[in-house]
Amino acid sequence: MARPAATDAGAVTTGPVFADRHIGPRTDERDKMLAALGLSSLSELVDQALPAGIRMDRPLNLPPALSETEALTALRGLAARNNPLRAMIGLGYHGTVTPSVIRRNVLEDPAWYTAYTPYQPEISQGRLEALLNFQTMVSDLTGLPTAGASLLDEATAVAEAMTVARRATKQGQVLLLDAATLPQTVAVVRTRAVPLGIEVRLADDLGAALAETDAFAVVVQTPAADGCLAPTEELRSLAEAAHAQGALVIAACDLLALTLVTPPGEWGADIAVGSSQRFGVPLFYGGPHAAFMSVRAGLERTLPGRLVGVSRDVHGTAAFRLALQTREQHIRREKATSNICTAQVLLAVAASMYAVYHGPEGLRAIAERVHADTATLAADLDAAGMAPDHTAFFDTLTVAVPGEAAAVVERARRSGVHLRLVDAGRVGISVGEDATAADLDAVRAAFGSDHGGERARRTYGDLSASARTSAYLQHPVFRNHHSETAMLRYLRALSDRDFALDRGMIPLGSCTMKLNATTEMEPISYDGFANLHPLAPAADAEGYAELVSTLEGWLAEVTGYARVSVQPNAGSQGELAGLLAIRGYHESRGDHGRRVCLIPSSAHGTNAASAVMAGMKVVVVKATDDGSVDLDDLRAKIAAHTDDLAAIMVTYPSTHGVFEETITDLCALVHDAGGQVYVDGANLNALLGLAQPGRFGADVSHLNLHKTFCIPHGGGGPGVGPVAVGEHLVPFLPGDPRGGAGDIDEGTVGPVSAAPHGSAGILPISWAYIAMMGSEGLTSATQHALLAANYVAERLGAAYPVLYAGRGGRVAHECILDLRPITKASGVTVDDVAKRLVDHGFHAPTMSFPVPGTLMVEPTESEDLAELDRFVDAMLAIRDEIARVESGEWPADDNPLVNAPHTQGAVTADEWDHPYSRRVGAYPAGLHAGPIYATGHDKYWPPVGRIDGGFGDRHLVCTCPPPESFED
Ligand SMILES: *Cc1c(COP(=O)(O)O)cnc(C)c1O
Repeated sequence: MARPAATDAGAVTTGPVFADRHIGPRTDERDKMLAALGLSSLSELVDQALPAGIRMDRPLNLPPALSETEALTALRGLAARNNPLRAMIGLGYHGTVTPSVIRRNVLEDPAWYTAYTPYQPEISQGRLEALLNFQTMVSDLTGLPTAGASLLDEATAVAEAMTVARRATKQGQVLLLDAATLPQTVAVVRTRAVPLGIEVRLADDLGAALAETDAFAVVVQTPAADGCLAPTEELRSLAEAAHAQGALVIAACDLLALTLVTPPGEWGADIAVGSSQRFGVPLFYGGPHAAFMSVRAGLERTLPGRLVGVSRDVHGTAAFRLALQTREQHIRREKATSNICTAQVLLAVAASMYAVYHGPEGLRAIAERVHADTATLAADLDAAGMAPDHTAFFDTLTVAVPGEAAAVVERARRSGVHLRLVDAGRVGISVGEDATAADLDAVRAAFGSDHGGERARRTYGDLSASARTSAYLQHPVFRNHHSETAMLRYLRALSDRDFALDRGMIPLGSCTMKLNATTEMEPISYDGFANLHPLAPAADAEGYAELVSTLEGWLAEVTGYARVSVQPNAGSQGELAGLLAIRGYHESRGDHGRRVCLIPSSAHGTNAASAVMAGMKVVVVKATDDGSVDLDDLRAKIAAHTDDLAAIMVTYPSTHGVFEETITDLCALVHDAGGQVYVDGANLNALLGLAQPGRFGADVSHLNLHKTFCIPHGGGGPGVGPVAVGEHLVPFLPGDPRGGAGDIDEGTVGPVSAAPHGSAGILPISWAYIAMMGSEGLTSATQHALLAANYVAERLGAAYPVLYAGRGGRVAHECILDLRPITKASGVTVDDVAKRLVDHGFHAPTMSFPVPGTLMVEPTESEDLAELDRFVDAMLAIRDEIARVESGEWPADDNPLVNAPHTQGAVTADEWDHPYSRRVGAYPAGLHAGPIYATGHDKYWPPVGRIDGGFGDRHLVCTCPPPESFED
């Protein structure tokens, strides 16, 4: 295993050990918590909680922990071994200029990056507004009325559009795919089509191909991968031909080009997809970037992922929240049509802010400059005898240089520009916002051309056959923040509305909202990591190659598997990759009928949705009263599926927060029946350093680096969901998307992401975490996570029954508080408790998952005792308030719980006719119980009161409403 450079160089570890910073409780606090549990050491707790049969008998084999300084030095060294030249390779990834005000105040600002997915809308109005801006931007630019904000990359967005179209048309099994589609999109669409029984046909001439097939949809890439921009009329006739046959049209398009060319919605496309990367989001060697999807009227209820909508709160104020949630995987489970959960929120926020910052005129000016520079290059190359393949283009040229392509690309590389080697005789050039006059000169020089535009045989740059005439981004939000002062204040105003980890604990079960250390975050902005194109030659990406292989090796070690791939862009995508590996394995052994996936009733919704996407049939296994998998039911289900059992998917420790004793028996039962065992690794924070799924019987897992390994949640993404497999599944790990249009080899699995290493740009975060924690630190973090959960369970157990516990009455790293009896007796719901916690300055725990009517608390190792106690005290105070409702002292429909959260407006209103004081409403723990220094001033004020979700679903609005609608 590679040792980081700093220790190789013999640096002496000095200063505090990072693990002591990452772990919240100080030694004396830890001892107090242990004492509260009647324990004398952490290992005693582990002995009680964790089944002995799965315990590791050795420490993790990881290099010695680095200090923060050493880790930064090592990462700087790795970044320096990447060579990010001016990226003019194109293919869906473009040079862009991230406005500094957005880089520092969004991408590098914990108020944005440590927030959770906006499921609690009252404390998420800032990011919901930013996402609504994103949807408005996409909707305006693509000319289609409804856009979501949840897609992971352009390639998977096309795959998702494929399934939307198939459901909408229910005709045929054939998808026609433009032969000029980005190669990585072709590869991912093929991967995703196979298990669904969809036949993907590549066509050079979509019109002709349509006439010959009853396709359910056509995908057209515009501009095409080679840069060719089809005239609007040609696209319009294609759409008409498709619609005449009942097929839908999916346009894969470019947001910057759409400021100049006719939007898909205006020439008849039903669905538009693409990436928003070039709106100020760094290349990051392939990701994370937010993709988008917009749809015509009638398709909005089938959009995958989350959709932000406008509703109103109890005071009648317009307020944002996630709309139409009934479509989502966590509710629809095996009937779900997409498994997307964690998305790319932080990147969508950054891209939307780029549009806010530049406004319509600014974006158009950038597009015009890019286009004009491209046209000048075309004319110059033409004058030198190298006319580009197409005369109509936006920013990309393909130029024939027979036998010379590699030499041209190499010459450009030597003068600081990465061009695209299409094949031995052709070079691709893509001009981005960041291309300078010197870069364009370097390109000319590489081709042996000079400024000779006036001698060109043709003129270039005429967009009249594609020109856009409609206006876009007319909402004031895209006009009012163009000075940096205005922009800075807008960003601050929005982030101030939100509750993130920088304000207080977010005890969300199953989500592991732990510290995202600044030292882990800093390196993602290093030039060598941020600005490298994913298709840069290997010689210019050595730092990334080492970073990825080291991290994959460490993750294999901590999980006990043979190999890991970091390609999947979220847990859901790791699940799909893992199930495709299982599918590939069975197929390779001639076991074509193995298609049943057993899933316990308590599983996360993505599990079932992923199984369906992998072409499997979900069979639900019951849980026993104590919450564990019912082994008798499991035996019965296995017996019923001896011939077609493919796999079982279980979460360990279980979604009930318990270490099940029977996990090894469960693995054996499934293996004996010829099935594979998938362990959902989202709860790895309870296992690291103590047990390895790959050694206790599982065949495959996904991990969530955005949970256990410190990648911040970003307000709902980015994530990284590596898939980890045993030796026999290694051949079935995700393939390389750069392979593109070539057929997926028999007996292998295609890629699940557009970029070979998925969201490579945020891998330094997890690398730094593991490097700085080392074996001891990681193990200690796990022990402290178990301690914190058991401490909270112990202190709250008398007030709120802890639903499930394992051996010795211990929980794992999270615990479920059962509110159902309380709700029955008092009418106070989990929702009321969640919203009242806002008044106390907390994010609510996970609500009603995996058991309806409960709260699941996961405190993590990063919270110190004071914060844990503050949370417990808040919960106990809430229990007392519930008692006052129960006793009739406060009416069921007017008390601090149902009226929570209390806004400043509500408690300072001239009128106050509630049976409790304003002080009780706003400061339930007293003025001096703030999260930090205990002054009333530290209080978090929610910007809106309780939101009426149903109202918004009945009056669906998913773009920025006109400003006057905010006034009443
Ligand atoms: C978070 C989670 C997932 C899904 O991960 P995403 O990154 O959100 O796709 C799957 N299973 C469990 C148990 C989880 O907690």
